[in-house]
Amino acid sequence: MTTKQSKALYQEAEEHILGGVNSPSRAYKGVGGGTPVFMEKGDGAHLFDVDGNRYIDYLAAYGPIVTGHAHPHVTKAIQAAAADGVLYGTPTVHENRFAAMLKEAIPSLEKVRFVNSGTEAVMTTIRVARAYTGRNKVLKFSGCYHGHSDLVLVAAGSGPATLGSPDSAGVPAAIAEDVITVPFNDTKAFDAAMDRWGEEIAGVLVEPIVGNFGIVEPEEGFLEHVNRETHKHDALVIYDEVITAFRFTYGAAQNLLGVEPDLTALGKVIGGGLPIGAYGGRQDIMEQVAPLGPAYQAGTHAGNPASIRAGIACLEVLKTPGVYEEMDRLGAKLADGLQTSAQKHGISVTVNRLRGALTLYFDTDSVRNYDDADNSNGERFAQFFHGMLNQGINLAPSKYEAWFLTTEHVDSDIDETIAAADSVFADMSSGN
Ligand code: PMP
Repeated sequence: MTTKQSKALYQEAEEHILGGVNSPSRAYKGVGGGTPVFMEKGDGAHLFDVDGNRYIDYLAAYGPIVTGHAHPHVTKAIQAAAADGVLYGTPTVHENRFAAMLKEAIPSLEKVRFVNSGTEAVMTTIRVARAYTGRNKVLKFSGCYHGHSDLVLVAAGSGPATLGSPDSAGVPAAIAEDVITVPFNDTKAFDAAMDRWGEEIAGVLVEPIVGNFGIVEPEEGFLEHVNRETHKHDALVIYDEVITAFRFTYGAAQNLLGVEPDLTALGKVIGGGLPIGAYGGRQDIMEQVAPLGPAYQAGTHAGNPASIRAGIACLEVLKTPGVYEEMDRLGAKLADGLQTSAQKHGISVTVNRLRGALTLYFDTDSVRNYDDADNSNGERFAQFFHGMLNQGINLAPSKYEAWFLTTEHVDSDIDETIAAADSVFADMSSGN
């Protein structure tokens, strides 16, 4: 496979754009370097690069593309929105409709607000929790990424850790001091932190199913325990469902798991591929937000008609009966195929999977928290990543990022992917 055009464009990009990329996770730093592929077109489960190569896509743009690329229903909605003019700075009927759809799908959202990114959504839930409780501290779980606002760039995992540094320069120590981190799935460490700081904590920020050091599910009773103890200390439970909402079911992870937070942050899938974020929750808490309350949040593009109409269309597709079951079936087939092939070639892998999302870790037994994920073998993954890319399989360039299926993947995509993995595993085991 030739990637001549990508190489030329990357050189040009490095002249103009810092680091050649507009988000650090797109650089191949975490996989030993290389030229990021410049994609030109997407169609269903496939992407096409500037050199004319076709890829089966499991990156799904880091999650949002759950109905595949250029889904006709979503494309039509975006075209209609463009034809009507993309931004008015006034309320629109579309926002009402979409808010009602989200509330119906995720019952803990008594009131919602739309913003422009997952970062903004999480950042604002923290402000609201602080306003409501009059406290400053936030507890989060190590390795979980919650966007790039100052407060949550502490033990943030996926983004920064991909580059080998868990924290960020430019975050004042005084801000980091307000963040307490404990390992996910560790009830004892959580209890100890709540005993010590519980009365100062405004909110406990949780990815109910972790998506940022691979797919890691909460152990039995963990989230219920977190809810109970957090409320005992009069703090709020905030779910970051930016990755998880509408990924596993029509609704959020909280629907699947049967636990309810006080506030929820959303993003990714709900924009149908256009930029969006949203947050919401209990009415009395949301009443802290301007114009009703003293906590400020605003946005020139917030609730913009194009993102909202794309989001409505995307959710309409996801409402089709059977779509999540089909992603589950294909996800199981892919996970089984990868495991069987790795075993055949004597390569040690662990697959964490939930429905249409999975992570393949090298040389680790089980992954239940960030340390487990971080201990997986990055060099092995880098070899696998480049081998797969050469065979037309597009994965995230990080040893613990998720693979995402879409409603458009079909059996032949999975078969092709397993065959590609089989030849890469064969090369890896023969030391090529
Ligand atoms: N929260 C989670 C769980 C995320 O995965 C991400 C993005 N990967 C964010 C927040 C930030 O979202 P955005 O990139 O849209 O700002």
